[in-house]
Amino acid sequence: MGIEVRNVSKAFGSFQAVQNVSLKIPTGQLMALLGPSGSGKTTLLRLIAGMERADQGQIFFHGEDYTNRRVQERKVGFVFQHYALFQHMNIFENIAFGLKVRPRKKRPSKQEIYERVTELLRLVQLEGLAKRYPAQLSGGQRQRVALARALAVEPKVLLLDEPFGALDAKVRQDLRRWLRQLHEKLQITTVFVTHDQEEALEMADQVVIMNRGRIEQVGTPEEVYRSPANAFVYTFLGRVN
Ligand code: ADP
Repeated sequence: MGIEVRNVSKAFGSFQAVQNVSLKIPTGQLMALLGPSGSGKTTLLRLIAGMERADQGQIFFHGEDYTNRRVQERKVGFVFQHYALFQHMNIFENIAFGLKVRPRKKRPSKQEIYERVTELLRLVQLEGLAKRYPAQLSGGQRQRVALARALAVEPKVLLLDEPFGALDAKVRQDLRRWLRQLHEKLQITTVFVTHDQEEALEMADQVVIMNRGRIEQVGTPEEVYRSPANAFVYTFLGRVN
């Protein structure tokens, strides 16, 4: 099992953002957390990432209890909206950042970093742009740099929070397809948050539908569409974004 969330709850003051959630994410799967705004998707993702501490419950990575381990120990790659690229660093430096801040013993040599970043640039199809700065790139290209930066640390788990949120429809469409292909190639256990059902249904192996801090249904896109578990899921999926 890639990730297991067991009876996890998180409150902010008296507001229960995530309520007794249990979820299993098999290794190598691409799972979407889908639900209306305020349903607890980002909080659940942050709990998995170790950026929030659960009030209750446990989180396992590959069978090991990570509930009380720090973010840095989790071998997780993030693409979060507020984790923007460093504007004063060029693309090469942005991608290399995660490798350079590793503990001394685990830090690759200069040559290794060069090779790894070059390989990542190829993977995200941005060869030749190493010397550019973020401001010189399009939104879609910047998003691919953010992904390359997340992948640089060779994560076992990739967590994406509305990764294509701010982009226009055509670019979103291209990036979805591209991320899906990349996922097929790398098979990293991936969880991404979206409020866009089309995005979730098109990209994910499994969809988790959330409402008011709870999970309403987990299933393949086909299952949730064909057999909505309850009235909420039925209404939510029937709604046009
Ligand atoms: P979603 O990602 O589904 O839109 P969130 O997980 O971001 O939902 O938020 C769920 C609820 O928890 C929201 O009502 C939000 O205002 C609240 N919330 C999230 N983070 C915090 C925080 N750090 N402090 C207080 N309230 C928060």
